[in-house]
Amino acid sequence: MNQAVALEVKNIHKTFGHNEVLKGIDLKAHKGDVISIIGSSGSGKSTFLRCMNLLEVPTQGEIFLHGEQIQFKDKRSRSGDRVPADIKQVERMRSKLSMVFQGFNLWSHMTVMENIIEAPIHVLKQSRAEAIENAEALLNRVGLYERKDYYPAHMSGGQQQRAAIARALAMNPEVMLFDEPTSALDPELVGEVLKVMRDLAEEGRTMMVVTHEMAFARDVSNEVIFLHQGVVEEQGDPKKVFLNPESERMQQFLAPKY
Ligand code: ADP
Ligand code: MG
Repeated sequence: MNQAVALEVKNIHKTFGHNEVLKGIDLKAHKGDVISIIGSSGSGKSTFLRCMNLLEVPTQGEIFLHGEQIQFKDKRSRSGDRVPADIKQVERMRSKLSMVFQGFNLWSHMTVMENIIEAPIHVLKQSRAEAIENAEALLNRVGLYERKDYYPAHMSGGQQQRAAIARALAMNPEVMLFDEPTSALDPELVGEVLKVMRDLAEEGRTMMVVTHEMAFARDVSNEVIFLHQGVVEEQGDPKKVFLNPESERMQQFLAPKY
């Protein structure tokens, strides 16, 4: 079946000073795709995700969300970098591209419930009652209803990350971006977060997941991208790519380390 394109990026470059971190990346995510992005530390995975929701402004390249192109303008500064041309467009775009971070990034002075309803009330202009009702349903889904009045500091890392996923879901995003969502967790807590992510994949959510969980990348995603020094070194169906990688660098990356 030919699904609609949810997110497309073309020829993304990102340079920090003299360091070209992304060297021309193309990617198309169709609705319902789960795309895993793998690669060594420093290969540009986080920068790439951050470029997609404009936490970083790509030095070059184009971004389309549902066919709508993000507009940039040149900044009149010595660096000559671009900036987004329309801040309202950026806000609209960001609310459709929720990000889940390695370090959870919940607001520590707010309860789980307050964390979840903040953006729906202020960005989506939901009523408080509506936002709470949605949040309760989401907390049920991630198994945290009983923790809704807890502060993040009083929860485990796995619970905090599930709360962060509920918070991202509350924006009803078109695409969810995950940046190593289980890397900061104790090993025994990884499974509960991956379970929630598997459920999201199964219900057809469009997801881009930077991960070191190779079993997740292989079993859950329908496409895998191996980044090496800011270039897509290998890309394709995980079943093929993991079984029979063409690139030598990917073979080395997958080889047992000890
Ligand atoms: P990964 O997520 O794959 O580990 P990153 O995208 O975090 O890689 O980083 C890729 C490279 O970009 C690294 O060399 C890093 O030092 C550099 N980098 C990332 N963010 C910045 C920044 N804000 N300023 C300067 N250099 C950065
Ligand atoms: Mg990273």
